[in-house]
Amino acid sequence: MRKFNVAVVGATGAVGEELFRIMEEFDFPVNELLPLASAKSAGTKIEFKGKEHKVVELTEKVFEERDIDIAFFSAGGSVSAKFAHFAAESGAVVIDNTSHFRMELDIPLVVPECNPEDINLWQKRGIIANPNCSTIQMVQILKPLDDAYGINRVDVSTYQAASGAGKEGMEELVYQLQKFFEFKLDECEPKIFAHQLAFNVIPHIDVFLDNDYTKEEMKMVNETQKILHKKMEVSATCVRVPVLRSHSEAITIHFDKDIDAAAAREILRKAPSIVVIDEPSEKKYPMPSISSDTNETYVGRIRKDTYRNNVLHLWCSADQIRVGAATNAVRIAQKWIELQD
Ligand code: NAP
Repeated sequence: MRKFNVAVVGATGAVGEELFRIMEEFDFPVNELLPLASAKSAGTKIEFKGKEHKVVELTEKVFEERDIDIAFFSAGGSVSAKFAHFAAESGAVVIDNTSHFRMELDIPLVVPECNPEDINLWQKRGIIANPNCSTIQMVQILKPLDDAYGINRVDVSTYQAASGAGKEGMEELVYQLQKFFEFKLDECEPKIFAHQLAFNVIPHIDVFLDNDYTKEEMKMVNETQKILHKKMEVSATCVRVPVLRSHSEAITIHFDKDIDAAAAREILRKAPSIVVIDEPSEKKYPMPSISSDTNETYVGRIRKDTYRNNVLHLWCSADQIRVGAATNAVRIAQKWIELQD
């Protein structure tokens, strides 16, 4: 079996570190591994399959010099904007975790459970975009329901974990919690989040746009339509909550036809990468404590609207560093490899 030279840009970050773990778990066919980060982390070490690898500074030429086949990018949009094309021009396929390329027409935006066929477009620019973390878990649920009953509108409220803002987001929440127990929480100046996150919820992720939605909310709207190839109505409210890991979502779905909860449960039980946990009387439903550190999207609280027979409400949780980033990226790479054969 062919093995590939793999670069990870952002190797010391939350997503980068998880990419190494997922590649180990999935026994991804790695030949040479090249961890890349900024000059600040160059020389530090990461561990992969029991071996230490030195982190190297990202440069324009490194992809060509090291004959990279697959380059995962997770170092922020500005780094992808500046460096992804050097990787693509050197002949590597870029799988980009940032929002930078997602809505460009000639760049596929892929969730392998929903639109694997779009990977074929990769050759146009040599880049495949990984969607926003909140979008991925939602479309994994919407796709099988849309195929069966036709969706015309989705309303979603998110409950997004601190680690969605990277390692520094996680550290800020932990620091505030420590300071609370020292009776010094009022001394904490928020740096990553707009307000204190400990013991709070913040209805503000990314910047506000002219239409009064945030950029994060509009990512969920636009990316869902691109992945599902459908101009369905989507409205999102994105909220940061004091959870370390795993985003949750309350989703209301309007269908073209009447639907009942039992039928929806059956469809979702058979859907790839979905686990249904829906026994409320037994106190069983998805929660971040269940989904964290796993590769599945958990769905439950599936119930029909009390007024409309064509409307369903449900609740889901998924590890956004895995399902919403690293796992999806590695699954894209696996599909891409299948297409090369
Ligand atoms: P993070 O924990 O802050 O890590 C950022 C990484 O980028 C670090 O490895 C950092 O290396 C590297 N980096 C920063 N500036 C660089 C530069 N100029 N050149 C080379 N490397 C540089 O962030 P993250 O959460 O992993 O997120 C990374 C990207 O993935 C973001 O675009 C984010 O929106 C996206 N994403 C994140 C999540 C999530 O749940 N966290 C989910 C989906 C998508 P140094 O150690 O050298 O600073």
